[in-house]
Amino acid sequence: MGSIGRAARQLCDTLPMHDCLFCKLVAGQIPSAVVYRDDDLFAFRDINPQAPFHVLVVPRRHISTLNDVSAGDDGLVGAMLRRAAALAAEHGYAERGYRTVFNCNADAGQTVFHLHLHVLAGRGLAWPPG
Ligand code: AMP
Ligand code: ZN
Repeated sequence: MGSIGRAARQLCDTLPMHDCLFCKLVAGQIPSAVVYRDDDLFAFRDINPQAPFHVLVVPRRHISTLNDVSAGDDGLVGAMLRRAAALAAEHGYAERGYRTVFNCNADAGQTVFHLHLHVLAGRGLAWPPG
C-alpha cells in the first residue's frame, strides 16, 4: 500500500464514527492473541473458539463484507486464503484437514463487519454446517 492509502486508512481508523472492533485489534488498541502479521494481513485466535484451532485472518484495511470486495482486492483475498493454508500447515493440520469460512451478512451469522476468514481445525467438522 502506498503512502496515500496508508494515510487514508490511518485517518479512517481515527474517525469517531469508525467504530470497528477488528480495526481496533489491527491497530493494537484492543489486545489479541496474534498468530501472524504482515503489511496487509493480521491473524489472531478467535476469542470464542469453535474448534481446537480457530483463528481469524483479516485484512488490515477495513472491508465490511465479502460483498464489498472488488476486483482490485483479488490479490489480497488470495493472500488471505494462502495465509489460512500456511497457518493450518504450521500448526499441523494440513493433512488432517481444516475449514475456511467467510460469513457474509445476517443469514450466515456475520457479527463483525470487517472481512475475516475463519480457519477451523482439530476436530471433525460437520457438513452441511448449521
Ligand atoms: P462472524 O460471526 O463470522 O462475524 O465472526 C466473528 C468472530 O469474531 C466470532 O467467531 C467471535 O468469536 C470473534 N471475536 C469477537 N470479538 C473478538 C475478539 N475481541 N478477539 C478475537 N475474536 C473475536
Ligand atoms: Zn474494520
